[in-house]
Amino acid sequence: MLNITTFLDANACRLSKPVFHCPDRDLYYTSGEILSIVSGIGEKLIQAGVQKGDRILIFLNNSPEYLFSYLAGWRIGAVVVPTNRIYTKFEIAYMIENSGAKMVITDASGAIFLEEMQCESKSNSNDFQFDLQNVSVYVPDPAEIEKMRKHPVLPPACVTCDDLCQIQYTSGTTGKQKGAMLTHGNWLAAISNECDVMAFSETDVYLGIYPMGHVGVSWGISALRAGALYIMMERYELEKYLNLIEKHQVTALSGMPPVIHSLAGCPPGTEDRIRTVREIISGGGPLHHEIWKKFHHRYGIPVVNAYGLSETIVIGTGTAIRPPDYAFADKFQSVGHPVCFSEVKIVDELDCSKTLTQGEVGEIALRGPAVAKGYFGYPEETKRVFLPDGWFLTGDVGYLDKDFRLCLTDRKKDMIVMSGWKIYPTEAEEVLYRCPAVKEIAVFGVSHPHRGEVPAAAVVWADAGKTENTDELLAFAKEHLAGYKIPRKVVTVSDLPRVGGWKLLRRELREKYNGKIEFENL
Ligand code: ATP
Repeated sequence: MLNITTFLDANACRLSKPVFHCPDRDLYYTSGEILSIVSGIGEKLIQAGVQKGDRILIFLNNSPEYLFSYLAGWRIGAVVVPTNRIYTKFEIAYMIENSGAKMVITDASGAIFLEEMQCESKSNSNDFQFDLQNVSVYVPDPAEIEKMRKHPVLPPACVTCDDLCQIQYTSGTTGKQKGAMLTHGNWLAAISNECDVMAFSETDVYLGIYPMGHVGVSWGISALRAGALYIMMERYELEKYLNLIEKHQVTALSGMPPVIHSLAGCPPGTEDRIRTVREIISGGGPLHHEIWKKFHHRYGIPVVNAYGLSETIVIGTGTAIRPPDYAFADKFQSVGHPVCFSEVKIVDELDCSKTLTQGEVGEIALRGPAVAKGYFGYPEETKRVFLPDGWFLTGDVGYLDKDFRLCLTDRKKDMIVMSGWKIYPTEAEEVLYRCPAVKEIAVFGVSHPHRGEVPAAAVVWADAGKTENTDELLAFAKEHLAGYKIPRKVVTVSDLPRVGGWKLLRRELREKYNGKIEFENL
């Protein structure tokens, strides 16, 4: 038997210091108070008819209510479906329907949003279908939650390692979001590996910026488990982030590649503001070597580059490059060795029964205790990627280097095939980031009548006013990239499209520019 929330009971007995802080409301909570509030909300859910195995979808912004509802769902044996308020009506309608949610937990404006969706669906049934008839809506009241700090403790629901506790929708970077079915046992592995990799302890102060709807929030839950102080940012803003680091003497940081990028370019003096940080996590997307190098030279803070997916609760089963190994990571996209109890292998992209040897590029497969049970409501896709012998086909392409470190090449779906030549956008970007004219760049494929596909690039320029930017980039590309990898078209953008502001959405660039780009001499 295992209910993952029992770490709260264990911590409540021995720790009286605050372990969770919401800076926007200046609120602090001890483990005992979290346990009480989670119990209070858990009781409310039970009174509203939620039973073991029922799906409850959380549609909130990062907030204490979010964290407490998440844990309350687990406490009573329900299945939590974490989402974000940034999702559109189409995405939310799909997730409610696909997960078969019995309840939606949201705030007052979220409840209005749902009502409007319902009305719209009734008035225009062809365009948009949504029925809330069998779904109850619960709006936790922050004032009422504050009164639950001493609520009697609710015993944890009796569940096994194999029982579902979550349906985690993938980010939708490459296509339709799929609901990965995660269990209490998966979470046990994730928390144990994250505590191990970050060496979280009670003296740590962890600043978390991942949206609660993304599986990256597991780092915050792991910090809680370790009895560290977990500070949750409602929304990432660089200056606020730096102020919080300074004020709370933060020791462990969640930073995604764009955050590490902005830190690398911060004004002089920032070194002093973040001097208490002993490690920073990067994950969810490639940390380009050029950015990593700049960050490393300026701050010398180890970057834990962690590789995993929603389907593996980040590094519940995955790999990580970490100190002291990270000092050798100055090669193309190494994400290190497998974490505890994880196995990694490279298989032929067309025949997954063929295992490739070191140095050979193929699809990355992972096996270990945090691999999800499959995709909810997608038996065919589940069968295709969750293999009977426990291996999970990630859809990422990479290879093992001579020291068995995993190196990522790209995502299978992002690969561009031009007249039979394979082009990996991340590899091309890795080189083009070194061009001084470039601030941010994304390479993507667009279809071409004779060549199949050709690479194009969307660029945010370091100096947008310079007229010769494109010429400079193309000259740089000609010098450093093989001819077939050079972007055939360069478009200027003010921002790159990203999921929730951080995960690059190459798919959106493809959709936007496909068929709309004129090519000369091709
Ligand atoms: P979808 O499956 O819907 O397209 P997604 O795969 O982007 O969405 P996530 O589970 O959030 O959803 O992201 C996992 C992916 O993120 C991995 O498959 C990999 O491509 C990328 N990724 C994760 N960590 C790293 C890392 N450290 N370096 C490079 N890429 C990473």
